Amino acid sequence: MRSITKLELQYAHRFYGFKGEAQYLHGHTGVLTIEVEDTINEGVNMVFPCNEILKTAWDVLKNFDHALVLREDDPLLPAILDVYEKQGIKNGAPQNKMKGEAFKTELATAYPDCRLVVTKETMTVEGMIKIVYDLLKDKLNIAKLTFTSGVNAASAEFDTHNKIDRCPLCGIALDENGRCPKCGYVKKN
Ligand SMILES: [Zn+2]
Ligand SMILES: [Zn+2]
Repeated sequence: MRSITKLELQYAHRFYGFKGEAQYLHGHTGVLTIEVEDTINEGVNMVFPCNEILKTAWDVLKNFDHALVLREDDPLLPAILDVYEKQGIKNGAPQNKMKGEAFKTELATAYPDCRLVVTKETMTVEGMIKIVYDLLKDKLNIAKLTFTSGVNAASAEFDTHNKIDRCPLCGIALDENGRCPKCGYVKKN
């Protein structure tokens, strides 16, 4: 069965090199739906607590929220960094608080201090699904991702492969020692 969580991301981007109006900088509220698949955890009668899926995803995906997403070869990138630098906000500002964990994957690098994500490929809805899967595939048993942004939407299905031991008392993933980080339950062998 699946547990399903939705989250919203507000971001600015553009399709560099695209022959359409999306080549101009613009913004969206994107909606990401994450479907996690596993057996039902008998102890809590859930696949996985949705608020925990949200927390795990949001820790990294927060980097896309109120952020600028640009492709690595977009000439806007050095131009914007130059402005941020001159304004003294490139390496952070006291008002920039809701920052995610910095990450670097083959597809994207997050710079939380200046609310920027640099991507290898154009950040279409399809591109975003590739980025998100790459960021979360080892943390959650993702069976399906759906991303919608304006009139665009894409989804992809995946084979789940992680063996995630879950706490029978609160449902969250046990750590490498078989201990629940939330309630302290320890798995007996
Ligand atoms: Zn767009
Ligand atoms: Zn627990």
